Amino acid sequence: MALVVQKYGGTSVGSVERIRNVAKRVVETYDAGNDVIVVVSAMSGATNKLVALANEICEFPDSREYDVLVASGEQVTIALLAMCLKSMGYKAKSYLGSQIPIVTDDCYSKARIEKISDKKVKADLNDRNIIVVAGFQGVDKSGNITTLGRGGSDTSAVAIAAALKADVCEIFTDVDGVYTTDPNICDNARKIEKISYDEMLELASLGAKVLQIRSVQFAKKYNVDVHVRSSFNDTTGTLVTKEDKEMESILVSGITYAKDEAKIAVMRVPDKPGIAAKLLSPLSDANISVDMIVQNASEDGYTDFTFTVTKADFKKALMITKKVAGDIHAKDVQTDESISKVSIVGLGMRTHAGVATKMFQILAGEGINIQMISTSEIKISVVIDAKYTELAVRVLHEAFGLSGRDVRVD
Ligand code: ADP
Ligand code: ASP
Ligand code: MG
Repeated sequence: MALVVQKYGGTSVGSVERIRNVAKRVVETYDAGNDVIVVVSAMSGATNKLVALANEICEFPDSREYDVLVASGEQVTIALLAMCLKSMGYKAKSYLGSQIPIVTDDCYSKARIEKISDKKVKADLNDRNIIVVAGFQGVDKSGNITTLGRGGSDTSAVAIAAALKADVCEIFTDVDGVYTTDPNICDNARKIEKISYDEMLELASLGAKVLQIRSVQFAKKYNVDVHVRSSFNDTTGTLVTKEDKEMESILVSGITYAKDEAKIAVMRVPDKPGIAAKLLSPLSDANISVDMIVQNASEDGYTDFTFTVTKADFKKALMITKKVAGDIHAKDVQTDESISKVSIVGLGMRTHAGVATKMFQILAGEGINIQMISTSEIKISVVIDAKYTELAVRVLHEAFGLSGRDVRVD
């Protein structure tokens, strides 16, 4: 008998029919003699609708009330799934994050899980209940509802698996596993059988939304093997696990894209020490993360300072930046919301030169201009005009041989 944590995403619980299908899968695992904890997302589109409602009420919704609102989508699905299981004759119990409790910090809409109590869940499992937990949400120490960032149900599931020392953590979604690139934009995308935590961390942080980045951080920290698979068939999916020798020899394992960032450029700032700190500190004080940064100094003593933030943070970041730009006598603040970040990821890049050059040549060959570049040991990212995203992903996927066999390092 094993303890199995299963997470079902929005599409998998997107209708009453699909919730019934989820219940059937859960029951199969339970009937095989396992203890089962199910984590569910809101029905597909539900969270987007709630976000849109908040934005209709006001431009900068209060962050506490925003979380109360967007967490409500998951309340609907836990109740429906638990009802369905009970109507099938099984013992089941639904739980909100605050009822478990899943305790987080107080950083609304990006909260981090700090502690998960196992008391109630263990008692219910001992009583052979199927536990149905609302993903994406928690509660801070003062009792306020918090949410974990978009896609956060993955993190709820892996964190619960870690806290309860589950034997298996399965992430059921609408694709068969983790692919070499988004299978919904590239027909030649290929399923990856096994991927290391580090590569998956890069893929997730660079736009492969099949797993939320925090879920992979948890999996790595607590050594949770995560099986990403489809809720619509029984095919084996992708195992996210510890790195092994086989993985290290693959040069590029995936191509990602992210269209959820926007660029802010502060033009002609006096080129003096402390300018970057002056521009960026108020943003981090407002809990806004800056992703890519480029600074170009010219000989006449001025510099252009350009950075990207997520579109969700864009309006607030722009308001803050305009104020600082005035204080430091910058000439102008320019913005671009139609950018996209395209990245190549692979453990083999650690030891292999020339990958960046090849990437830049391929993009140049298609007439795609690179606006910003950033690299790490195992990834290279470029910012380009959003209209070239799909083209860039497809040509890079082809050029690095991902459509066929893995490209291995000699
Ligand atoms: P869920 O609602 O189940 O959490 P998501 O929509 O959050 O599902 O994530 C699954 C989606 O991730 C897929 O439909 C796919 O379009 C997208 N995706 C992006 N990159 C990848 C990738 N490399 N492999 C698999 N799916 C990817
Ligand atoms: N419902 C939340 C979202 O849409 C959480 C999740 O689906 O994982 O972002
Ligand atoms: Mg998701």
